[in-house]
Amino acid sequence: MRLASLLLALIPFGLAIGTAAADPLPVVATTSVLEDLVKNVGGDKVAVRSLVGPDGDAHTYEPTPSDAKAISSARLVVINGLGLEGWLTRLMGSAGFTGTRVVATEGITPLTMTEEEGGKARKVTDPHAWQSLANGRIYVANIAKGLAAADPANAAVYQQNAEAYAQRLTTLEAKVKAELADVPAAKRRVITTHDAFQYYGKAYGVQFIAPIGLSTEEGEPSAGDVAKLERQIKREKLKALFLENISNSRLIDQLAHDTGAVVGPPLFSDALSKPSEPAPTYIQMFEYNTATLKAGMLLN
Ligand SMILES: [Zn+2]
Repeated sequence: MRLASLLLALIPFGLAIGTAAADPLPVVATTSVLEDLVKNVGGDKVAVRSLVGPDGDAHTYEPTPSDAKAISSARLVVINGLGLEGWLTRLMGSAGFTGTRVVATEGITPLTMTEEEGGKARKVTDPHAWQSLANGRIYVANIAKGLAAADPANAAVYQQNAEAYAQRLTTLEAKVKAELADVPAAKRRVITTHDAFQYYGKAYGVQFIAPIGLSTEEGEPSAGDVAKLERQIKREKLKALFLENISNSRLIDQLAHDTGAVVGPPLFSDALSKPSEPAPTYIQMFEYNTATLKAGMLLN
């Protein structure tokens, strides 16, 4: 009885808060990684949705009419930049977006790679900058700045949330380094399908070898490239093969079949997992990928 009357007493109070509080700021993020960062910085002051959902491929994404609608009613759009979202300019144009746009990678020093296309070498910017936690902190700072510009009344809240979350990333960074310290230098090499882990590799001392380039748009490697990679796997006794949650497994399965190497569980590269799977947040993605990579590298 007492509980019931307490609840009754609280209801009008709750309603009063509900009506007094401003509506959350409508935000659109292009990817699930960005969506999670916006949630952590924005808290209950924002309502964020991502265009490319869990396990989705941002390189080859095809926007839907509901994406244009979401963008036209958003006050802030958060994008990765560095060439990840090639489909975005057209979508923003058709949505007639007039709000604030945040490029989360602003201020990051991008990695570039030389890729071969039609026999010609060309320099390509690597967009997967979120795969380093130091860069993750820059994303968070840019998002906090963007949220404050779109919603100055809550600037202090965004700043405070951003600082607390950045601190969690710093703690995680030390944990990742400590985990990987158990892997001897000679074993710090893995094969992944597409080249999404160069930032991770550079930050934490792991060499990633990937038969598909920086974008999944580039398609399958040639038979000659696959044969060359198989020779390398055998010569260097590489044991761990990984595919990403966004890639198809045909190529990696073939490499495993031909070389006897083992295919590990999928890594989360360009998108988070669904809530029921192991990497539904940016932090969980790092924890999971690190544990999975470590287990693969330590195979004998
Ligand atoms: Zn990618």
